[in-house]
Amino acid sequence: MQQTETLFIQHFGNPESRLLDYYTSRMIGYQALKKAFGMGQDAIISEMKASNLRGRGGAGFPTGVKWGFIPKQSPKHKYLVCNADESEPGTFKDRDVMRYTPHLLFEGMVIAGFAIGSNIGYIYIRGEYVKEAQILEDAINEAYAKGFLGKNILGSGFNFDLTVHRGAGAYICGEETGLLNSLEGKRGEPRVKPPFPAQAGAFGGPTIVNNVETLACVPHIISRGGDWFSKLGKLEKSGGTRLFCVSGQVKKPGLFELPAGGVTIRQVIYDYCGGILNDAKLKGVIPGGSSAPVLTPDEIDVVLDIEPLQKVGSMLGSAGLMVISEDYCVVKLIHRITKFYAHESCGQCTPCREGCHWMEEVIHRILHGKGREQDLDLLTDIANNINGKTLCALGDAAAGPVLSFVKKFRPDFEAYIRGKKCLSA
Ligand code: SF4
Repeated sequence: MQQTETLFIQHFGNPESRLLDYYTSRMIGYQALKKAFGMGQDAIISEMKASNLRGRGGAGFPTGVKWGFIPKQSPKHKYLVCNADESEPGTFKDRDVMRYTPHLLFEGMVIAGFAIGSNIGYIYIRGEYVKEAQILEDAINEAYAKGFLGKNILGSGFNFDLTVHRGAGAYICGEETGLLNSLEGKRGEPRVKPPFPAQAGAFGGPTIVNNVETLACVPHIISRGGDWFSKLGKLEKSGGTRLFCVSGQVKKPGLFELPAGGVTIRQVIYDYCGGILNDAKLKGVIPGGSSAPVLTPDEIDVVLDIEPLQKVGSMLGSAGLMVISEDYCVVKLIHRITKFYAHESCGQCTPCREGCHWMEEVIHRILHGKGREQDLDLLTDIANNINGKTLCALGDAAAGPVLSFVKKFRPDFEAYIRGKKCLSA
């Protein structure tokens, strides 16, 4: 196992780490913010570009480049929005960042706000994260009381107000424009792009939407430099560490902080997670949250990063690995995944609204002994008519797993269709 510097995980599990006293005595303590005020906006964005920090929410877009899209002058207010919706199944990293290191997130947000010229920040948190929302509220009150939020922060003349906005538990509000609609009090439906949020986002103003982990990396980058951060990662385009969420049939599931681009799926499962539960054989791995196409055991020597996973037809997404052993029924699993996306479709586009339910119905009948030989081709056909043909990525998120499960585990579906039930039972 690699010995690597970690930015977050050493603080997770310690309730004291969420307190301002702990943050100022044991962590960065708003010193990076002080440094950022002295650097100026352009220098901060340059440092962010040098860091090779890519968004940790799923899309993986370079953060510094994204910040550079915000116009310097704007007749409307500019906004910084932290996407804390974390609703991709298999993903549970941002919850711990907020639960144990809220001030790291706030410091990152004030620096980001200063860099893009925004005085208004929101943390949009999923409705189910009740305790985390309260922790954020308490920590925000502490930060205001000590002058790290509000007017004239650290005597810089810069003002920044931060508000926690609770969602109501809809997956689609993790999509940035659905989130912005919800923030504005509208239905959480994704918008047609362009315009992109950097041009017209929250309340029509230029807006940056960044993930929790992404923003919490910012104080480290400003404090120790973009070059240092970049070198923590092991591939040219990927700087820093990444929080990997591992769930499913492994002996030690949980959260692991490892160098970006520095480990393979095999290493994570066997070196860090102790192997497969009950020493069963591995059946497959979903590497990036449930919307990522599944990989089979002969594909797990791939490095866990954006481009290597793209090359094998999957994606890193939110870095939520779901491990499937041979003891688990993959037909039941894909039924559950498909049912989830059908339920979460916002209904704006016909292929997603109708197709997701249709896929769920076909898999349901296969599972219940009523499948037909032609159903696998039908499933592939429906999925292909959703994939790439919808307004937002939910359509692809639903279609990709179905296509990959049918392609890679066809005998499991056929066993159901021919009345043998589950191959893993
Ligand atoms: Fe809504 Fe689905 Fe269309 Fe996304 S793809 S906008 S979730 S109907």
